[in-house]
Amino acid sequence: MKKEIICTVCPMGCRITVEGEGEKIESITGHTCKRGEQYASAEFAHPVRILTTTMRLEGGKNPVIPVRSAKPVPKEKIMDCMEAIRGSAAEAPVRVYDVLIENVCGTGVDIVATGEA
Ligand code: SF4
Repeated sequence: MKKEIICTVCPMGCRITVEGEGEKIESITGHTCKRGEQYASAEFAHPVRILTTTMRLEGGKNPVIPVRSAKPVPKEKIMDCMEAIRGSAAEAPVRVYDVLIENVCGTGVDIVATGEA
């Protein structure tokens, strides 16, 4: 399998090609530094993303509050996490970095507030 990856570690945005099967990497080309090689290798085997969205808010001035995952979550779990957030509600008062969902979808990652209410 061949995967084209745009490195997001720095603004250069190098196009990196990774070839391999499953988690086994056979070659990485197109990177211009070690950080890019590490990024592409992780992205090939276990792609992850920081999840940013909003959550329903009860008892506050606004109907929703901005939230994000405290750490990147596996890409294949993003939709499940979005469902879990959609089905939850925070209760005012909320402070920045308050944990609103612990261990979302068993990922070991918490969903935290990025705003106050
Ligand atoms: S490979 Fe290196 S130089 Fe290229 S975008 Fe990634 S971090 Fe930047």
